[in-house]
Amino acid sequence: MAKNTTKDYDAELNKTVFNIKHQRTFCMIKPDGVMRGLIGEIIRRIEKAGLKVVAMKMMLPTEDLIKKHYPTSDAAWVARLGSKAKKGLADLSLTAKDTYGTDDEKLLGENVLKGLIQYMQSGPVVAMVVEGIQAINMVRKLAGPTLPFMAEMGTIRGDFSVDSPVVANVEGRSIHNLFHASENPVEAENEIKLWFGGEIICDYSLGSDDIMYCKHY
Ligand code: UDP
Ligand code: MG
Repeated sequence: MAKNTTKDYDAELNKTVFNIKHQRTFCMIKPDGVMRGLIGEIIRRIEKAGLKVVAMKMMLPTEDLIKKHYPTSDAAWVARLGSKAKKGLADLSLTAKDTYGTDDEKLLGENVLKGLIQYMQSGPVVAMVVEGIQAINMVRKLAGPTLPFMAEMGTIRGDFSVDSPVVANVEGRSIHNLFHASENPVEAENEIKLWFGGEIICDYSLGSDDIMYCKHY
């Protein structure tokens, strides 16, 4: 682990502060982000926010890896995917029943999943581990919400993607939204293990660490 520049509080608090400062998350530039030449722009945003990339690789993921990455056998997760697709329709004043002939969230989710697995293998991805204060929430915030038309300007998805869940679903494909980021600590831990398990995660300090989140004066 990098040098902890916090003052010495009692041991327990010091450990908590250290863990917050060095939280790690997994994120990935999806094939459309790579093929649109957005690798540099996306990494620039992560670095400019004060976060640091501690592991990175470009690869063509296999179907097996993608199926492990997304919890495809978790019925609740698949249904949640369906409910997101449904919400995307509701925001456009459409219903799943009228558009796809069903409003069953599990069926809708399975449909989205099929397209998602193809999308994630459609080209190379850039996988990363990012570290910093509350890195999980910070990288989600940089990403913006899942559906491009709901992602605010200023976010990666809001600034650079423009896609519709209706069009994507009718065309039997995933929404093209450029970037993946772990949603919570459990996802982050599992995804870091899956993509970088057994590989070296680098340990270094940024020149800005002391100024950004240490009492250096
Ligand atoms: N997705 C989609 N249509 C939907 C919902 C999700 O194509 O209606 C795809 C999209 O690429 C998304 C991925 O499925 O990024 C995983 O969905 P999740 O709900 O985990 O969103 P994320 O965490 O990526 O924001
Ligand atoms: Mg997710």
